[in-house]
This record gives sequence, structure tokens and C-alpha cells, in this order.
Amino acid sequence: MDQDYILSQLGEDRANYYNATAPPIIQTSNFCFPDIKSFKKAFEHELVNHIYTRGNNPTVAILRKKLAALEKTEDALVFGSGSAAISASIISQVQAGDHVVCVENPYGWTKSVLEKLLKRFGVETTFAASTTAAITAAVRTNTKLIMLESPNSITFELQDLEALSKFAKARNIVTAIDNSYSSPHFQNPAEYGIDIVLHSGTKYINGHSDVVIGVCCSSKKIIQQIFLSEFMTLGAIISPHDAALVIRGLRTLPIRMERIQSSTKVITHFLQQHPKIEKVIYPWLDDFPEKILARKQMKGASGLFSILLKADSIEKVEQFISGLNNFYLAVSWGGYESLAMPFCIFHNMPGKEDTHVPWNLVRLSIGLESPQYLIDDLDQALSIL
Ligand SMILES: *Cc1c(COP(=O)(O)O)cnc(C)c1O
Repeated sequence: MDQDYILSQLGEDRANYYNATAPPIIQTSNFCFPDIKSFKKAFEHELVNHIYTRGNNPTVAILRKKLAALEKTEDALVFGSGSAAISASIISQVQAGDHVVCVENPYGWTKSVLEKLLKRFGVETTFAASTTAAITAAVRTNTKLIMLESPNSITFELQDLEALSKFAKARNIVTAIDNSYSSPHFQNPAEYGIDIVLHSGTKYINGHSDVVIGVCCSSKKIIQQIFLSEFMTLGAIISPHDAALVIRGLRTLPIRMERIQSSTKVITHFLQQHPKIEKVIYPWLDDFPEKILARKQMKGASGLFSILLKADSIEKVEQFISGLNNFYLAVSWGGYESLAMPFCIFHNMPGKEDTHVPWNLVRLSIGLESPQYLIDDLDQALSIL
């Protein structure tokens, strides 16, 4: 389906709402019925009919249609956060006694649901390095799910989606991926046979740092299964108002991603040449170890990358960060604004320490500003080192 058609028309039944160009925000908790017969009939298909907004809401439904089409899957659900989408989807695939293989160093709360929450309910997880060999070697006879994140959002290791989905299909193992880094614009894992495609829509999908939202895209069968169980019971839904904001954010997804990619190319090349930079870690660079795999399964790379500073102390890293004026100091990423995230803040912080992340690593998220505005700022802040 054409991306332009998806973004401007799909799911928008304008004749039904006065031919309004923008979708209506159906701000209601419930829907009423003219008679017993139609009330009864609505329950035959709760995923489609409008009964109660914890299940289905027309504004949210427009967004679901667009997201499923963008990810080239049959259906989608949206959740109140990326974490909710990931947790609900993982939980939907396992029961006590089952085993999950997850890539090592996934998003922190993905690790937490597997390592802490599901462990309490008798589900074991093995965290494996990103290579096909390591992931397949970790599979046991009771493995039900392989959880991927390619690339991950700090050090950007990739997994071979085609090889892993082929391996998993032959063993009846479900594959899921956190696709937040690429957004549906730059990677569609379903094209490689991945079963469940997850997003923190808070990042590029909404793109304006004003909504927290999660997305799960999959087959009709899996979506129906998650809807009737985890989605309805956990109830981590998005409001109709937030859904309308995300539909608006989505309209500009392609132009935002293209702008961000072209700015990031210029900025990473500038940083690669800079004497105060030890290394730039970005999947689209020529020296990226998995460059060939990246170019095979991704259509582009987004604006998130990491730099290793040539700094001799954490204080120096902190001084560099304090010297930045045009990057905000914040978590998250994928919005209109450029951000800097120094991982040294977690150094020696009990419970938060990311031992795999070096203290001189700073993650940058490039927003919609001009590349020169950001380069000038990086250049002056690096002169502090
Ligand atoms: C932010 C993030 C999440 C969690 O999404 P929320 O919307 O914040 O709940 C999951 N995965 C990755 C890679 C993220 O960056």
C-alpha cells in the first residue's frame, strides 16, 4: 500500500463525520445501542465493534489501521506506552515453564519484564548476544519466543531478521522485535517474517515529544489473541485525544525521517573527523561492523547514535554536556528537538548501572534543527575537552 495513501486517507471515513478533514476526537468511555438485538450483536466481535473505549474507540481505530499498514501487517493495537505494548506482547506468548530468548542489553524495561516480572511466574529467559549463532544456540525445547531489538538504542547491534525468523518458524517459535529505532519508515521486520513488530510510538511515530504511546503490529490472529487477553485485562490504553495527536504526528513521519537522516549523516561525518571523538557508533557509517546487514534489512537509519568522547574523566564528560546549548539534556528521543544523553550519570548509581555502556558514551538524538546549528554547538562544546 502506498505510504502517502496510508498517511492521508487510510482509515479516515470522512463522510461519516461531516467530511471533516481532521479526524474527530470521539471522547467517550462507552457507546450506547438502540435495541437489545444490536447490543447483543456487538459482543460477537469486540475488537471491531464500539462498546467501550478500553476495547475499541473510533479515533484510536484510525491510528491502528495506519500503523498496521505502515508495518505491512494485518492489524495493530496501540497501548498507553511502548513498555505496555512490549510487556503485553511478551506475556501473551508464554506461560509457566516456558522459555524466552532475548537479545542481551535490550531496552531496560524489556529486560525487566523478562528478568523480574515473568521470572516470578515461572518463565525463564536467556539473554544472548546479537549474532544468529548466539541466539539460535540459546534456544531450548521449551522456547516459545525470541525477542529482538535491531538495532538497539544505545550501542546499535543488529540481528539478522531473515535468518532468525526462518530458524524460528521451523521450530514454531514466535519472533518479536522492538522496531522503535528505525520507525516503520526505515524498517519493516514483517517483510522478513518477524511475527510481532513493537514500537515505542513515543519516539519517531509521534515525533513531537508530547504523547507516550506504544504499538504492537502483527497478524489478525495474534492481535485478536492479545486483544482478548492482555490488552483488555491490563487496560493500558491510549486516550482518543492522544490518538488524534499521534495521527497528526504520523502525517509528517516520512519528511521528518528523511530530514533527520540527512542531518545525521552530516553530523556523524563531522564528529568522525573530530580529534576529541574516539568513535561514532551509527549503523549507517562505513566503519559500522554490521554495515552490510544494516543496508540489507534497513531502508535508512534514524537520528540516534552514540559518541565515545576522548575524555580522561567523568567530570570532562559532564563539562562537555554542560557546554551544549542547542541539545536538551533529557531521556527519550525521536522528537523534533535534539537531545544529549550522557550514560555516565548512571555510573555508580545503585540499580541503574549499565555495565555494558562505557562512561564516556554520550547518545545524541538528532531532531529537526538544521545540521549546522547542531554542529556549531557540538564544536564549541567539544573544545572544552
Ligand atoms: C522508549 C523506549 C521504549 C519504551 O517506550 P515508552 O513509550 O517509553 O514506554 C521501548 N524501547 C525502546 C528502544 C525505547 O527507546
